[in-house]
Amino acid sequence: MEESAKIFIVEDEKNIARFLQIALEKEGFKTATERNGKRAYERIMQEKFDLVLLDVMLPEMDGMEICKRVREVSDIPIIMLTARDEIKDKVEGLDLGANDYMTKPFASEELLARIRGTLKRHNERVRDEEVNRYVVKDMIIYPDRFEVTVKGENIELTHKEYELLLYLVENKKNVLSRDQILQKVWGYDYYGDTNVVDVYISYLRSKIDERFGEKYIHTKRGVGYVIRD
Ligand code: CA
Repeated sequence: MEESAKIFIVEDEKNIARFLQIALEKEGFKTATERNGKRAYERIMQEKFDLVLLDVMLPEMDGMEICKRVREVSDIPIIMLTARDEIKDKVEGLDLGANDYMTKPFASEELLARIRGTLKRHNERVRDEEVNRYVVKDMIIYPDRFEVTVKGENIELTHKEYELLLYLVENKKNVLSRDQILQKVWGYDYYGDTNVVDVYISYLRSKIDERFGEKYIHTKRGVGYVIRD
């Protein structure tokens, strides 16, 4: 994926922009270039790039301002390109939210390594955020896949057991009464028959708490049940 990533080169020095473009395209990246700061900011907002290489000194809007404004609305990876002795310390000190900084002049190998590293970390983070899951101690519940693992081991649950567990986990730390659980998981047909809740709690406990020797589901006497870390 990273090899076909589109890199936006924001650099007003023609030779450097060209050098970057050639180096990146040779490695299979797609590129776009822009030399005007204000225009670059507008394009980052409008177009779809995977990473921005951002020079600091630019006409109309400097790279620091661009970075600051982009960060207000986007987490697109940004690598700042700063001239030696110029304002590298200042740029870093300002903590504008850039993912990385490179001082010019630099070798293309180093830049490529930084780009790959930055893209990889970014993609991993995005992937983690996209996976919908609940975590309780060593247990992970993936609601989209009807999957439950404890210490990495798959737990086989019946549909009702799974629904009960999910309801407890969605309300982690909140004590749920037997009536609440009954209505939510079994519906009104079972109204009043809270024994079924106790029975299914005991099923879950034998498959999770007892099997792994750790307490997940707690009984709140006279009230109901709660799952917590
Ligand atoms: Ca410049």
